[in-house]
Amino acid sequence: MREERRAGWARWGTPEQAKPLPEAVAGLLKQVFEVTPPAPAVTPDAVAVSVPALAEQARAALAAVVGAEHVSTELAARALLASGKSTPDLFHQRTGELPALPAAVVAPADHDQVLAVLAVCAEHRLAVVPLGGGTSVVGGLTPDTGGYLTLDLRRLDRLVAVDPVSRTAVLQAGLPAPRADELLAEHGFTLGHVPQSYEYATIGGFAATRSSGQASAGYGRFDDMVVGMTVATPRGTISTGRAPASAAGPDLRRLFLGSEGAFGVITDVTVRVRPLPAQRRYEGWRFESFTDGAAAARRLAQDGPRPTVLRLSDEVETMLGATGRGRGDGGCLMVVGHEGASVDRAAADTAAVLRECGGQELGTEPGEQWAAHRFDAPYLRDALLDAGAFAETLETAAFWSALPGLYEAVREALFAALPVPSMVLCHISHVYETGASLYFTVVTAYGDEPVARWQRAKAAANDAIIAAGGTISHHHGVGTEHRDWFAQEIGPLGVDVLRAVKRELDPARVLNPGILVP
Ligand SMILES: Cc1cc2nc3c(=O)[nH]c(=O)nc-3n(C[C@H](O)[C@H](O)[C@H](O)COP(=O)(O)OP(=O)(O)OC[C@H]3O[C@@H](n4cnc5c(N)ncnc54)[C@H](O)[C@@H]3O)c2cc1C
Repeated sequence: MREERRAGWARWGTPEQAKPLPEAVAGLLKQVFEVTPPAPAVTPDAVAVSVPALAEQARAALAAVVGAEHVSTELAARALLASGKSTPDLFHQRTGELPALPAAVVAPADHDQVLAVLAVCAEHRLAVVPLGGGTSVVGGLTPDTGGYLTLDLRRLDRLVAVDPVSRTAVLQAGLPAPRADELLAEHGFTLGHVPQSYEYATIGGFAATRSSGQASAGYGRFDDMVVGMTVATPRGTISTGRAPASAAGPDLRRLFLGSEGAFGVITDVTVRVRPLPAQRRYEGWRFESFTDGAAAARRLAQDGPRPTVLRLSDEVETMLGATGRGRGDGGCLMVVGHEGASVDRAAADTAAVLRECGGQELGTEPGEQWAAHRFDAPYLRDALLDAGAFAETLETAAFWSALPGLYEAVREALFAALPVPSMVLCHISHVYETGASLYFTVVTAYGDEPVARWQRAKAAANDAIIAAGGTISHHHGVGTEHRDWFAQEIGPLGVDVLRAVKRELDPARVLNPGILVP
């Protein structure tokens, strides 16, 4: 049932891939959280959701565009792609009570087929949800409509062109990140975009959600990498990005970056690429407190040198070794990574600054451990869910001056809304000259209503984020989960602008209804 290019059903990996829980965590769960293992998940062909069937005329029109074999109405295929990979999504899959289910999964082969599918959808008033890797954690794949299609972009999986002189490449939207890197490596290049969802997320998904990877300090966010895009809309094609920089009016690329399928379907992305690094070095540094570590991270972000990877766990996360195998001697772990043609000089210069800021060098072992386990967290979440513990994350960003207040406000809101006992871990995951992002992880027992309980806690955290001056999302996007807070963030006029754009590009309102635009 499981397809290699998709994360698992009701989990991230296969049951065999679940990571054994670290001793400290397993002990805590047993003694403090008193968790009990849940019932096994239902299978995707046993979900119980009734949705209107695809009308025969629409099915014939779609089959005429993509071929009948690329229009699937099989229940398991539809269920597998019906939601993303947030913990509530996994819970819905476990119980089979999905909040939405597409009437069909349609897989076009190229840009022209995407355009033609959109025309069919507009004509038949059929909503359409573009899907890349299906790793959304913000409800980006769950529209607020009964009948819809999932537009599976997996067949758009080619490296279209490489320009080694300009160091750009054109990648089709459905390329999963590892395959994109494999193809670029044949030309001596890398993207340098390594989010934790790297194994399954796609190029189009990165652009549509303005993703940010673990090496963002060195390579930048995904939106920094995008030079141009081709977008299919129900009104036709838009191509953006004629030059590396331009003063020709507002930048239309920015309109489609983060548009989450609500304005069009991104079919290819022109990205800036970098030479494959010849050397990599990851180190651990210990700081006495999160405040001290954050000051050091700010110093590097503002005054340099800027490493490729820069992350700082708070005291609790360091203790649990969630990101870097904690040493159990208190303080906070910073992971500093350097990638490039040669890294010794950068590492030495960075070390001098970190020492000046009170950092204690832990050598490469904690850094290498972090690198070796950088994709473990979702497999660990599977193990926690199997044990009966609910683990979920949320993220935000703010200017440096607002960061300490934001950190405290989110923790307070979560603790006030979560049952006792619960754990809240945090790390700084991305840094900028002007600020940084905070990434929180929550662990608690299932209780009677795990999803409702999480939704209450998440709403409280969202309120706290907006009140403390943070953004509702630094890299996960808006989807349905953040939509109401996003509206607060951009204000009523901002919402009207987005609605006007959507009306113009998608007059029949078929593109991902309810996602992003309130
Ligand atoms: C375990 C885990 C870890 C994660 N870690 C990170 C992280 O480190 N950094 C990060 O940024 N994010 C992270 N995410 C979130 C997620 O992986 C990103 O949002 C990613 O960019 C989504 O890519 P995707 O291809 O899976 O998109 P999907 O989930 O398929 O789609 C996401 C949204 O974009 C739309 N969309 C997808 N493709 C297109 C397209 N071609 N054109 C128009 N719209 C489209 C969809 O309709 C949906 O609204 C994580 C998620 C999980 C489950």
